[in-house]
Amino acid sequence: MTTRTARRLPVHRGPAAWSAILPGQEAPDVLGTTLTADFAVVGAGFAGLSAARRLKQLHPGARVVVLEAGRLAEGASGRNSGFMIDLPHDISSEDYAGQAVESDRAMIALNRAAIDFARQAVEDYRIDPAFFDPCGKVNGAASAAADAHNRSYADHLARIGEASEALDADAMHELTGSRHYISGLYTPGTVMIQPAGYIRRLGAGLRRDRVEVYENSPVTQIARTGSGWVLTTHGGRVTAGTAILANNGHLESFGFATRRLMHIFLYASITVDLDDDALAKLGGRPRWGITPSDPMGTTVRRIDAAQGGNRIITRTCASFRPGMEVSTADVERAAAVHRRKFDDRFPALKDVRMEHSWAGHLCLSRNGVSVMRELEPGLIAACVDNGLGTTRSTLAGIAAAELASGESSPISRHFCAKEAPLKLPPPPIAEIGANAYLRWREWRASKE
Ligand SMILES: Cc1cc2nc3c(=O)[nH]c(=O)nc-3n(C[C@H](O)[C@H](O)[C@H](O)COP(=O)(O)OP(=O)(O)OC[C@H]3O[C@@H](n4cnc5c(N)ncnc54)[C@H](O)[C@@H]3O)c2cc1C
Repeated sequence: MTTRTARRLPVHRGPAAWSAILPGQEAPDVLGTTLTADFAVVGAGFAGLSAARRLKQLHPGARVVVLEAGRLAEGASGRNSGFMIDLPHDISSEDYAGQAVESDRAMIALNRAAIDFARQAVEDYRIDPAFFDPCGKVNGAASAAADAHNRSYADHLARIGEASEALDADAMHELTGSRHYISGLYTPGTVMIQPAGYIRRLGAGLRRDRVEVYENSPVTQIARTGSGWVLTTHGGRVTAGTAILANNGHLESFGFATRRLMHIFLYASITVDLDDDALAKLGGRPRWGITPSDPMGTTVRRIDAAQGGNRIITRTCASFRPGMEVSTADVERAAAVHRRKFDDRFPALKDVRMEHSWAGHLCLSRNGVSVMRELEPGLIAACVDNGLGTTRSTLAGIAAAELASGESSPISRHFCAKEAPLKLPPPPIAEIGANAYLRWREWRASKE
């Protein structure tokens, strides 16, 4: 019998702010019993909940159980910036452009399939439209070099037949209220989600569809039994014919893809709900999202009352942590950088307080592939988001459900055709090298 015990469970630093700014959640259902299911899913982020929804579409009568270590939207799925991006968004590149015209077109089609899947869930489960706003996004440039990135990205988009619109400094000011940006590139296909609103309501909709979602129920052990799997939590046990691991970087905690996964933490801060005085000083429009023209720059987003308050979110800083944990000091260091970036953009709001700062765990591979495959008979992975999990992990979840069901689609074929993640250099070299590289790229993108 194969038994794997979790070496690590998720540890979060800073609150899950997107959830904290919404009305409170109901008390969680915690697994406290032994039960048998057709399918068990570990992790309730984009990947896990999408897998559960796809399983229910394919097998309406099946018993599907989801086991989540924390509360819904407490992990990275509720800690991100909420850009559900349709276009190539290669964060390791200079300007987000992908590799080649054909592969970019294929990736765009997949990203749009993920967005359509989410849109259908929003309709079916009557999720608040403020949590899923198809308003597009802008790549903001604050320097001549970044402006050049925007131009080369616009050329690339034109080559692959995708629309974009150049914005000048006045248009950027009219949108954001900030004079920081000298230009911008608007692309219409991004959906801006309230990540916690989306994830929490997706979980609620699945429960109405009779998917059992247990929270505060970390899986501590998985064991093969007969033709199925037994998943053990602190309070109970689920035996299932098929298990899907949708726990992203914590795939490695169960001994899979060891020393092939890069555990990266990103950091963000959110202001208090802006009062009338601050809103008058800010100006601009009530909702917008700016990704930096240099992928290592600062993402800034404005949300409104329907999304959890009139607030601005600043996201920048990254660190590589093979131990899958950051310290309070790491979050404080990032929060100080967020303050500086915010003040650069909104000097009139120097007195506005940040209400929350936090870190979130991403999982990348050196060759940019996810792990979506059968690990052992009846055990399937939908992991490794490569930093773009609102779409990529949605797709991985769909693909895992299809693989578990013997179904084939362009989505599952995309993942099945990929190679395994490449090996990383030995630990100290990987850690020192990756952190030095991240610092250097952050420094180079500093104005952005
Ligand atoms: C600050 C920040 C900004 C970001 N901005 C964006 C953005 O704008 N757009 C975008 O596409 N992506 C963004 N991301 C990345 C995005 O958040 C991730 O790609 C996405 O959350 C990955 O989804 P997932 O379902 O694969 O994994 P996760 O969201 O990590 O979900 C995995 C779940 O598994 C659970 N789990 C782990 N171990 C166990 C266990 N043993 N038992 C039970 N459950 C377990 C975890 O608690 C977690 O809830 C950002 C991330 C951060 C941190």
